[in-house]
Amino acid sequence: MSGEVDLPGKTREKGGAKMKAVVDQDTCTGCELCVETCPEVFEMQNDTAGVKADVVPAEAEETCRQAAEECPVEAITIEE
Ligand code: SF4
Repeated sequence: MSGEVDLPGKTREKGGAKMKAVVDQDTCTGCELCVETCPEVFEMQNDTAGVKADVVPAEAEETCRQAAEECPVEAITIEE
C-alpha cells in the first residue's frame, strides 16, 4: 500500500507502457487461477473470468503476465 489514489475511469496517459489484458470468454473455464494470481486485474464475472482494469496498473503488470502464462487454457491475451 503506497497511499496512491486510483481514480476510476482515469488511466495513466503519460510515461510508461500501457498494458491491457483480455480474457477469451469462450475459452475460459472459470478456474479462478488468474483471479487468485492477479486480483487487481481479473475478477470472476458469473462463470468466467473478466478484466476489471481497462489498463493494467503498473504495479500489477508482472502478476498479470504471470496469470496469462499460467492460465491452463491460454484464455488470456496481453496487449501492450
Ligand atoms: S486462469 Fe484462464 S481459465 Fe482460469 S479463470 Fe482465468 S482466464 Fe479463465
